[in-house]
Amino acid sequence: MGHTTDADQEYHFLQERICQKIQGNPASPTLMKILRLLFSPEDARLASRLPHNLTPVEALTDNLGIPLAELNDRLTEMAQRGVVFDLEYNGRRYVTLPPVVIGFFELVFMRTRPDLPMQELAHLFEQYFTENNGALAHSVWQGQTQLARAYVREETIPENTTEVLDWERATHIISSATAISVSICQCLHTAQHHGKGCDKPTEVCLSFNYAAESLHRNGHGRAITTKEAMDILARCKEANLVQLGDNVQRKVSFICNCCGCCCHMLRGMRIYTSGKGVVTSNWIMEVNPATCKGCGECARVCPLDAIRIAGRPGEHNGKGLAIRDEHTCLGCGVCSTVCKTGSATMRSRPQRVLVPETIFDQRVAMAIERGQLADLLFDDPEKLSHRALGRVLHFLEKSPPFKAAMACSSIKSSFLHTLVRAAEKQSGDLADVFK
Ligand code: SF4
Ligand code: SF4
Ligand code: SF4
Repeated sequence: MGHTTDADQEYHFLQERICQKIQGNPASPTLMKILRLLFSPEDARLASRLPHNLTPVEALTDNLGIPLAELNDRLTEMAQRGVVFDLEYNGRRYVTLPPVVIGFFELVFMRTRPDLPMQELAHLFEQYFTENNGALAHSVWQGQTQLARAYVREETIPENTTEVLDWERATHIISSATAISVSICQCLHTAQHHGKGCDKPTEVCLSFNYAAESLHRNGHGRAITTKEAMDILARCKEANLVQLGDNVQRKVSFICNCCGCCCHMLRGMRIYTSGKGVVTSNWIMEVNPATCKGCGECARVCPLDAIRIAGRPGEHNGKGLAIRDEHTCLGCGVCSTVCKTGSATMRSRPQRVLVPETIFDQRVAMAIERGQLADLLFDDPEKLSHRALGRVLHFLEKSPPFKAAMACSSIKSSFLHTLVRAAEKQSGDLADVFK
């Protein structure tokens, strides 16, 4: 029988901590191998003791028993490696342990680098994303509230429409950002390591505001101007890439330009969850059967295979016809931009999609849906009070009366409102960064 070393313990604690995150990253032997490649045992010990919420570094020194200067140095090295996320605001530095996705997978593969065994990591992440019949996809995308949403191509929206809001427009998010950074596509980067990458543009992942500043400071991205970002967006549209980004209305932190072949999100949705995982835009594609020639261009570019060409020659006036699956269509508009006959048009969905206003609304909604409020609100593993209150709330969350109350939308909504305000208060000054 094997024996467990102190180092093994540190990695087990770290995995346990990561699996408590509301993003829903499951434990697995593959994840353990990834953690061993990314963290030294000492860093695993430090990382497993970081709170889930962004916390000022100086507030951690006592509990961690590490002097401030030394702690800052270690966290800087870890942030540059991509295993800790930090941001600076009002002269203070805040840190947190990121989840696997959206988190250190992205941070590690946002650039080419000699300091990590990238080939081995690419294989292990691929295994983690696909093993156990897509356990990761099912876990990350459980519940209604998701981390990402599709952005409709503005040029496909009928003119004079008043229904499209600023937060639905990628161009508005770019032009209103206080900082912008670009990084290489992590999904394409990993695909290249197993000899499968496509020929789409690579420098396509745009980050904004606080996220852009952090990525740039830690060497994970390149600071760019508004014009450069607009040019990247235009080139990505030209290459038929689909815009997926942060599922919030305010302070959007990222917009990815994704290809259907390499993107882990799109692939996961196609293979494991029948299209569930990214929230649709408020638009859906409609085919005009009278003018559709059945050429199949729209089906070729659809990232989710939501279009099939039906019929044989002799039907539909001698043409095939594009049929769009309403349950799979993301409302991205890529098909509409390639249809030469103007037969694939975007129309507003009858019911508007619910998009959380801020990251606080998003995280609280996810925590309630996943029974993880305790992990969100009492998240400091070093505080006895947090551990005790967390256990009580965990118990309450699983109880039938709590679940019954959450099933009532008015109770849920006022409870949610109270919790969002509590989460904002817990963040102190930092709340302004996300609003
Ligand atoms: S989500 Fe899309 S753009 Fe972002 S890394 Fe993956 S494929 Fe690239
Ligand atoms: S691209 Fe246009 S014409 Fe061709 S199949 Fe699609 S909808 Fe029909
Ligand atoms: S049919 Fe496909 S390409 Fe067209 S809007 Fe829907 S998801 Fe996008």
